[in-house]
Amino acid sequence: MEKTVVLLKPDCVQKKIMGEVIKRFEDQGFQVIGCKMMRLDEAILRDHYSHLTEFPFFSEILGFMQSSPILAIALEGEAIIQKVRDLIGPTDSTAAAKGTVRGDLGEDKMRNVVHASDAPEAAEAELKRFFDAGELMA
Ligand code: ADP
Repeated sequence: MEKTVVLLKPDCVQKKIMGEVIKRFEDQGFQVIGCKMMRLDEAILRDHYSHLTEFPFFSEILGFMQSSPILAIALEGEAIIQKVRDLIGPTDSTAAAKGTVRGDLGEDKMRNVVHASDAPEAAEAELKRFFDAGELMA
């Protein structure tokens, strides 16, 4: 069993499609083991998106990710990290296949509904980044 982190981004929260997105994960048999609405400050975003801070669009990402609270979710399931990445589709929503979260519900490269951990090391770091000990279902 693996754990992964999904962030429902501000576009998802504002469009009131959080339930629809969570249902897609639960329909796969994945268990929600943590759930937390948070406002992300610049420090946590610089940490989370450290691979993007040098890009010209980083300030736009900061503005977007701080435009409303996000919902951080921890999920557990077999081989869940890759399965969730497959379910959400590629970064650019306009290039994502229909049937994927981003393909069905996203707008563009930035407003793409969700973040999901992309590797076991990332999932481990993100569980610590977004959840305190004791906030996850045992
Ligand atoms: P992913 O979220 O698919 O793992 P990345 O880690 O490359 O993708 O990027 C993180 C987030 O930064 C994306 O989900 C998206 O919101 C934003 N982003 C990435 N590339 C761009 C871009 N070229 N223009 C605007 N926003 C971008």
